[in-house]
Amino acid sequence: MVHLSDLKGIGPAAVDKLKQLNIESVLDLLFHLPLRYEDKTRITPLDRVQAFQRTLVEGEITKSFVVQGKRPILVCEVADEQGVIQLKFFNFYYSQKIKMCAGKRIRAYGEVNQGLHGPEMIHPEFWLEQAIPPLNERLTAVYPKSEGLQQKRLQNAVQQALGLLIDGRLNVSELLPEEWLQKARLPDLQTALEVVHQPPPDVDMQALMTGQHPSQQRLKIEEMVSHFLALQAIREQRQQHRATPLCLSINQKQQFLARLPFTLTAAQKRVLNEISMDLAKTCPMQRLIQGDVGSGKTAVAAGAIEHALAAGKQAVFMAPTSILAEQHRLTLAEFFPHENMAFLSGRLKTAERREQLDKIADSAAVIIGTHALFQDDVVYRDLALVIIDEQHRFGVHQRLSLKAKGADHNNSLPHSLIMTATPIPRTLAQVAYANLDVSVIDELPPNRQSINTTLLDNKKMPQLAERIEAACQRGEQAYWVCTLVEESEHLRAKAAENTFEELKDWFPGLKIGLVHGRLKDDEKTAVMADFKAGNIQLLVATTVIEVGVDVPNATLMVIENAERLGLSQLHQLRGRVGRGTRQSHCVLMYQAPLSQNAQTRLSTMRDTNDGFEIAKTDLKLRGPGEILGTRQKGAMEFRLVNVETDKDLFKQARELAEFMQKNHPEQCHALIHRWQRQAATLAKV
Ligand code: ADP
Ligand code: MG
Repeated sequence: MVHLSDLKGIGPAAVDKLKQLNIESVLDLLFHLPLRYEDKTRITPLDRVQAFQRTLVEGEITKSFVVQGKRPILVCEVADEQGVIQLKFFNFYYSQKIKMCAGKRIRAYGEVNQGLHGPEMIHPEFWLEQAIPPLNERLTAVYPKSEGLQQKRLQNAVQQALGLLIDGRLNVSELLPEEWLQKARLPDLQTALEVVHQPPPDVDMQALMTGQHPSQQRLKIEEMVSHFLALQAIREQRQQHRATPLCLSINQKQQFLARLPFTLTAAQKRVLNEISMDLAKTCPMQRLIQGDVGSGKTAVAAGAIEHALAAGKQAVFMAPTSILAEQHRLTLAEFFPHENMAFLSGRLKTAERREQLDKIADSAAVIIGTHALFQDDVVYRDLALVIIDEQHRFGVHQRLSLKAKGADHNNSLPHSLIMTATPIPRTLAQVAYANLDVSVIDELPPNRQSINTTLLDNKKMPQLAERIEAACQRGEQAYWVCTLVEESEHLRAKAAENTFEELKDWFPGLKIGLVHGRLKDDEKTAVMADFKAGNIQLLVATTVIEVGVDVPNATLMVIENAERLGLSQLHQLRGRVGRGTRQSHCVLMYQAPLSQNAQTRLSTMRDTNDGFEIAKTDLKLRGPGEILGTRQKGAMEFRLVNVETDKDLFKQARELAEFMQKNHPEQCHALIHRWQRQAATLAKV
């Protein structure tokens, strides 16, 4: 067998770096697929170059000169018979300027920009005079890199692996059914790998560059199939466990509904019914509730909890922050005034923690808290339901609810319900949550007014001050959110403290409060309680209040330096107002000038309140990995598939996954293993 270290140019250091890319064998290397292609097979005439395209050009240098400024720029003007382009270099040696003198022939490869003086390339790759190589015959594959592993080296290693494959010294097993490939008119695996790594000269280049070539489609479908199979494996694995069926009589259900301070919306009722049906089964519920900010997920969760209580079992409700957990504790105490509750967060004092742990192991019926609920020393008396609120990270819940098994005698698992306000588009949801049943609360409680959002330059403080005072005079309340991203919690707190002091000067007549992540849990709780009770009119906060916080009397949200935040974060924050029936406002302050991307984010916020619309734009701006928070987790990180542009392939892949499970179950595991290392280990939990 050939090992990675047998390849030329791959020493022990490179082997280590490849390992970081999950490449441990020569075969793995073949599945490290190109990110894009460079076309150095032809020269584009200068009147035909297009902005944003990576292009190969050639011509004669007509002049070169240095533009002085903060950083000197070497500009090299190149002409062919059709047109002119400028090549620009910010870091250059004097010797480079001399070499690039007028009259010389030059070839350059880079991305074309539309500059002030016509097309330009910044820092192109270039060759002069005799050093100009013959044109390539094939497209050049460019691979995703790891830190410190050069592209050339990677390309070279893959070429060697490909050589072994073509010589027959390396085998890849075809895992997709032949009959299916034939019907779909897609190539076999070896052909596909050869084409993508080393495109033949006569390949349809346009198709390959845009990811539409049948060889690429085949590999993408294979990757998607393995993704579906992996999630399906997780699902089936959970379904092998038993769960205690939890049923509510019609009477019990009506009593519960009557206890609520409002009538459920039709959407809330429908979702609660779906949950009821799941809970009545003897295998664990695996359901996700998607509902925009303010759609009333908590009440639906309470309905689920009622099922556990009626059966004399325990229910756990986990929130991502202690502020939110505390709020849920208060809300649920209102919904369930006679139940025994326990509360666990990371920062309880030892004695308090002990006391809560004892309750959890014994009398508590409803248990609320943060991630601390899933620590090893938490033992549940009889846990039947796990609810995870505001879960944005895909995959985490599986591990959590498995951990929460507690004292589990008969291979049973609690039912699990995950709630998220990240309204991802349907196609993406089908991929990300293929192992879950999904319910959508697609209706807001009645009489909500849409939040009016305005953008305001940071400098226009006096205008804003009037609005804050006016709102407070009407007896309403306001948030002032300080944003400082990517800095320590300490710096964030400090910034919020400064703003707090400044605002106290601005508004001597207002009662102003401050909450940030450095406060102790009971301090945070006290401030939030004061705000909820109306004792604080203006609450200065960091993004600790981002999710879930519910104070319906707050009608004004000011977000400082809103350009620093992502769309979903802004949407979450804005969702802290507009929770009552009065008109609410959101002011997004920004520091000019704005980048293109920031402009898009802020104007999207101004133009729509619809979480679904916002998610769509967010998906365009950031890509699915970021949105699902899976970049680091790996579970949704496709190598080839682009969840947005390849969505047409999902249906085919789903069908193929089902077909394979039915007719070729023996291949399924190998397929999962080939593409989804992390997911495969997950499935083994
Ligand atoms: P989210 O889905 O963001 O978690 P919440 O559960 O916090 O939303 O509910 C938002 C607000 O709407 C709360 O103040 C809650 O009391 C209220 N609410 C929820 N459902 C209804 C309803 N059916 N009718 C009226 N108000 C409701
Ligand atoms: Mg909520």
